[in-house]
Amino acid sequence: MPLTPRKDEIAAVAAVLESTDYDTVEAMARDVLKAASVLLAQRSSFGVYAELDGEGPRVGFSMGPYWTKGDAERALERAATAGMRGFTAALHSVDTVRPAMDHAAKVCACGHRPEIHVGKFGCAVYRCPCGVFQPGIDPNNVLPIQRGT
Ligand SMILES: [Zn+2]
Ligand SMILES: [Zn+2]
Repeated sequence: MPLTPRKDEIAAVAAVLESTDYDTVEAMARDVLKAASVLLAQRSSFGVYAELDGEGPRVGFSMGPYWTKGDAERALERAATAGMRGFTAALHSVDTVRPAMDHAAKVCACGHRPEIHVGKFGCAVYRCPCGVFQPGIDPNNVLPIQRGT
């Protein structure tokens, strides 16, 4: 599914298109593409890792970005019908990966804070089946933090 442009992204590209600073259409097109790539790099996205299913050498490739987790999951389903197996993962930039790691390290796999896990009684949240604190939600499922949206 193609991405849905956001208001601020449309405004940034429109600003280039409305500018009278360009001598050629090519120079304007160059700046439109540059602006779009900078804006899209700030978005959350997902990748798919897929490798050959079954016996034999382990050969895998990564695909993406996909703009929604659903798009990544559909790509993985298509890969499965083509004899591959794999997983989806959130894609991070250098700017967003550290906060995502810090967040993952502070939250138990059950989604609750570490300090409410008490010894052998486990997680204190009513009806939470979690036993011992398990650091780190899978960082691949922690969405990159959005900037400027
Ligand atoms: Zn827990
Ligand atoms: Zn819990």
